[in-house]
Amino acid sequence: MIDVVVIGAGPAGVVAAIRAAELGARAALVTSREFGGMADNDGPVPVRVLAHTARLLRETRQLGEYGVTVTQPVLDYGRLLARAREVVADVCAHSSLRQQIDSLGVTVHQQAGQARFVDAHTVETKSGLRLQAEKFIVCTGGVSRRLPIPGFELTSTHSDAWSLTSVPPSMLVVGAGATGAQVASIFNAFGTQVQLFEAGPRILSTEDEDVAAAAAAAFRESGMVVRENFGTIESFEKTPAGVRMNFAKDGRRDSAEAALVVVAVGWAADTAGLNLAAAGVELNARKFVKVDEYLRTSATHIFAAGDVTGRLMLVSQALPDGFVAATNAVQGPTLPVGERVSPAGSFTDPEYAQVGPTEAKARSTHDIVTAVVNFDSTTRAVIDGRTLGFCKLIIDRKTCKILGCHVIGERAVDIVEVAAIAIAAGMRVDELASIPLAYPTHAAVLIRAAVSVAQQLDLGVGWRAHEAA
Ligand SMILES: Cc1cc2nc3c(=O)[nH]c(=O)nc-3n(C[C@H](O)[C@H](O)[C@H](O)COP(=O)(O)OP(=O)(O)OC[C@H]3O[C@@H](n4cnc5c(N)ncnc54)[C@H](O)[C@@H]3O)c2cc1C
Repeated sequence: MIDVVVIGAGPAGVVAAIRAAELGARAALVTSREFGGMADNDGPVPVRVLAHTARLLRETRQLGEYGVTVTQPVLDYGRLLARAREVVADVCAHSSLRQQIDSLGVTVHQQAGQARFVDAHTVETKSGLRLQAEKFIVCTGGVSRRLPIPGFELTSTHSDAWSLTSVPPSMLVVGAGATGAQVASIFNAFGTQVQLFEAGPRILSTEDEDVAAAAAAAFRESGMVVRENFGTIESFEKTPAGVRMNFAKDGRRDSAEAALVVVAVGWAADTAGLNLAAAGVELNARKFVKVDEYLRTSATHIFAAGDVTGRLMLVSQALPDGFVAATNAVQGPTLPVGERVSPAGSFTDPEYAQVGPTEAKARSTHDIVTAVVNFDSTTRAVIDGRTLGFCKLIIDRKTCKILGCHVIGERAVDIVEVAAIAIAAGMRVDELASIPLAYPTHAAVLIRAAVSVAQQLDLGVGWRAHEAA
């Protein structure tokens, strides 16, 4: 019998299989489709290729400002999709995780079809594979949430971008979380007339309020229609030119139409085909796999990791989750998941990113000091002609430690990662403020914010390089 069977070969499953094998377990990895999971094949990797293309397009628009004359760029969408496929293949071929998994002797069953529990220690796949094991780690990720609304089958998801033959003339994006905002921003840059609809009071509801407001303003400025608090969808219907969404707010009916309607209203656990009941694995109230702090499910020999547990739903969580679940599966429940510093961001235009609590959340639990520094006051942003945005730093007044950082603007994700490292290192704000960064760089905005807070708190800041930043 195999010691550990890992189901799903996304980031969580791949790391889980490697860790189990490293600890000496005989491990097998079974996945319905390609190695790399949604992350490599349908999520961050290919979507980032589209986002990079959007960035290249907006950079070409700056050329005139810097004395370079070119004709207008023209996007060949078919060629772009071919490039996305090349990148996906390249990432998979060069993945060090694939090399590791093979060198550790893990048996990989890919393209095996959905695995399904037959009993608590056996899974079978549609391709006829049958695996019995002492322990299992469920890493099956998630799927786009569907809405029980008439005509929903007429709508698309981000995955349909891969089968379009050209850039649609118009698009209605429903749901303005990370995925919806990214799809809207990318296709807006490609020349599609985009309308972004959010049922909640604001777009990017998990971001800091000021960041979300700045993103909405920037999206509108770039020609996108952004409708927050738009009401409730009643139906979708086919029209000669595409799809119409009918909705109502406060008793008033309205509609919006586009060539394509993309729905991005959340992510559900991909458990439908697993027959978890046969193994005694329970779901929580949100219908994700219920786990304890050791990522152990209600069946104590079965663990779960990554998106299927419905926590942060990012690669940066899936990877350590896989490590924790496999450690506990092989060695017994010894390693809790614990709290992690989790920077996250999105490659929209403008970019935004966060680490730690929003200002509103931090204020409700701590006595805080904040500083906001605008990009237009830093040298690099002016040089690059990218002056939109700001960096907000949130500090605990008592300990002077960094609680959170929220950025919107050029290279926001990279800037927030510097803050995340400072948080993980337990740095005080005056220590961060004293770091002389290379000049002129985007991260200077973070150091400027740190200096501002350090000054508000009357902490000495020895190094004054920030004055030139
Ligand atoms: C558009 C988009 C953009 C994103 N961008 C980012 C980003 O920039 N940064 C970031 O950190 N995260 C991003 N994410 C989220 C990220 O992709 C996920 O958090 C991550 O892929 C989760 O990894 P996982 O291992 O849990 O599952 P997945 O990567 O989803 O892998 C699960 C695998 O299990 C397989 N599977 C499912 N059911 C079965 C079954 N019954 N039997 C066998 N195999 C099965 C699936 O086919 C899949 O291959 C993005 C997501 C989307 C949709």
